[in-house]
Amino acid sequence: MLNPFENIKIPPKTENLIKIVIDRIPKIGESTVKEREIKRISFYAEQLKKYQEFISQFPRIENLHPFYRESIEILADINKVKICLGAMNRGVMLSLRVIERYKKLIKTSDEKEANRLMRQCIGRVSSILRARKQCIDWVIDLATQLKKLKSIDPTLPTIIVAGPPNVGKSTIVSKISSAKPEVASYPFTTKEIHVGHIDTGLLKIQVIDTPGILDRPMSERNKIELKAINAIKNLNGIIIFLFDVSNSSLYSSKEQLDLYNEIKQLNKEVIPVLNKIDDKNEKLYEEIKGQIKEKAFEISAEKGIGLDTLLNYVITLIQNEQILDK
Ligand code: GDP
Repeated sequence: MLNPFENIKIPPKTENLIKIVIDRIPKIGESTVKEREIKRISFYAEQLKKYQEFISQFPRIENLHPFYRESIEILADINKVKICLGAMNRGVMLSLRVIERYKKLIKTSDEKEANRLMRQCIGRVSSILRARKQCIDWVIDLATQLKKLKSIDPTLPTIIVAGPPNVGKSTIVSKISSAKPEVASYPFTTKEIHVGHIDTGLLKIQVIDTPGILDRPMSERNKIELKAINAIKNLNGIIIFLFDVSNSSLYSSKEQLDLYNEIKQLNKEVIPVLNKIDDKNEKLYEEIKGQIKEKAFEISAEKGIGLDTLLNYVITLIQNEQILDK
């Protein structure tokens, strides 16, 4: 599925649109003065079509996949989106009516009046738009941001790689993906997310890491981050939780296990994976392994150890649709 905002055409913001009109007017000529002024104000109407098109292309929030709805909620109040699209629409309708009225006035005016009427019309329409400028510009900015959310496809089964910073999340994403993962920015996090794909022949699976999202205790999170977790929860998939059992681990066994237990509460299948087994710290390894009740995989993402076994297990799980039906 395409990002529903991917193809939306972003129109110029209010002042830019007005400037396009003002700059163009002197260049528009016609054989008679009246025809020229009508053509000039018609040019404004044409520009306003960009706003009409934008409004009609803007996806209906209630029809969006919950992943996108939650992503929008991170950036904006959904009610404000509706209010601003409404304000933009009314601004356009009102402006078009004004232009139609002035066309008639110019037709029945004398030549001397026509130029004054044209200028009056441009002024009125610009005021109508400026009165709604904050809303119009805000909703255009929002669409610009949403258009960029293009790599995560919420309709694909997804392997979500979680775990504290520096445990090897982006390494495993790149090691198990068929092609080089894309780098995407999302409103959930200031960090970049890696998005890769695995093609099993039967199924296309998406793999993402979650820097800045599923990597810290919930108690340290702000409202936006909690919404980010909601967005992630709406992806159809399983979580691979990476532990770092190496000598270079930045986190104690307790810190890692506490986070693991929190992630398990997200109501998704969570597979515990002990990474960096090539540089195993016996104490850390034993402490973590001893506390995990579930079957834990042991891998080295960097050296490629244990990845096939893990991947086969995950793919079978997804193919059995145990998680697709959740
Ligand atoms: P992220 O912050 O969780 O995405 O972690 P990265 O994937 O960026 O990896 C952090 C560091 O750990 C990098 O220096 C990697 O080279 C290293 N690393 C990742 N996997 C392994 C592994 O299996 N063994 C060892 N020894 N180092 C690893």
